[in-house]
Amino acid sequence: MRNKRAQNLSSGGFGQQKKTDAKGTIIKGISGFYYVAVEAASDAAPRVDLPANLAPREGMRIYQCRARGIFRKEKKKPLVGDRVRIEILDEEAAEANLTDILPRKNELIRPAAANVDQAVVFFALKEPEPDAVLLDRFLILMHRQEVPVLICLNKKDLADSGVSQHWKMIYEGCGYQVLLISAGIWEKEKRSGPDTKKDPEMEELRGILEGKTTVIAGPSGVGKSTLTNVLQDTVIMETGEISRKLHKGKNTTRHAELVPLGNGTYFCDTPGFASLDLPDMEKEELQTCFPEFGPFERRCRFQGCSHVTEPDCGVREAVQEGKIAPERYENYCRFYHELQDREKHKYS
Ligand code: GDP
Ligand code: ZN
Repeated sequence: MRNKRAQNLSSGGFGQQKKTDAKGTIIKGISGFYYVAVEAASDAAPRVDLPANLAPREGMRIYQCRARGIFRKEKKKPLVGDRVRIEILDEEAAEANLTDILPRKNELIRPAAANVDQAVVFFALKEPEPDAVLLDRFLILMHRQEVPVLICLNKKDLADSGVSQHWKMIYEGCGYQVLLISAGIWEKEKRSGPDTKKDPEMEELRGILEGKTTVIAGPSGVGKSTLTNVLQDTVIMETGEISRKLHKGKNTTRHAELVPLGNGTYFCDTPGFASLDLPDMEKEELQTCFPEFGPFERRCRFQGCSHVTEPDCGVREAVQEGKIAPERYENYCRFYHELQDREKHKYS
């Protein structure tokens, strides 16, 4: 309270070097700098007129920050997604100090990010065809980190509706929400004018993403950039000094970064997701990542049945009866053996 008062008073002074605090979100960390997005809509943001070329998008400023020594002393490492307090050192140059990390809602290991609300597993129905092994790996990774997942299958304009429905049914049967979209068509319509026809599944996706930080995971070529473009209401200007600094080393970093879409909506972009190791886990835990097995486990003869080799297995029966998708069960066995091999190597 006092602080705010002091700020208001000092901002009226002439030529005085004023220090303003602001709250923002770390969108990127690279070579000792943290880039913090401050949305003007948030009440803590400085209400100053900014040169357009310094603002990567309307209503938002990005500050280049150094972390204060206290973080090193406390062994607290700022993460992408962290809500932070900054002390603005130079408004013109958009330089600030990172002074405080606000309490985290969660902290993911892969991608290394804080305050993640949800994940969208993003695949194309065609060009490239969905890779069910990779898709299931993503689901396991997110399940293990307790992140709610939505499956989004793009390029529905290219796929047979039979094929689309097949994928949708498999994963809805496992308890996931599945949206079939066409970001490409959406982008074209957006370009053709403001009266874009509304695709209900696209609108649903927009609603789900709004105001949230969402990890978007998927192989390249599936339409992630297209979706990002569509979701941005205004054009991002990348001419500013900070933007240039921000994009330096874009291809060399494998760190997660947030793409601000405005109004508190962020995508957590995750490079290096083309192939994916299973997280560190026991093979016995794997079945918890296949929620559709649950109802059939009580039909297994053996308690603690792995559903791989034991006789009279309820899960295998359910696969034979067509109640569990064989594709999923196949991947389960594959991953089970992978974890088994890993275990063997650990002790040999
Ligand atoms: P990213 O690598 O995941 O970021 O994929 P891009 O957004 O760059 O898209 C890869 C290619 O797929 C581009 O040529 C896009 O124009 C195209 N594409 C994206 N979405 C769609 C879609 O819904 N339908 C069709 N037919 N093509 C799409
Ligand atoms: Zn079993």
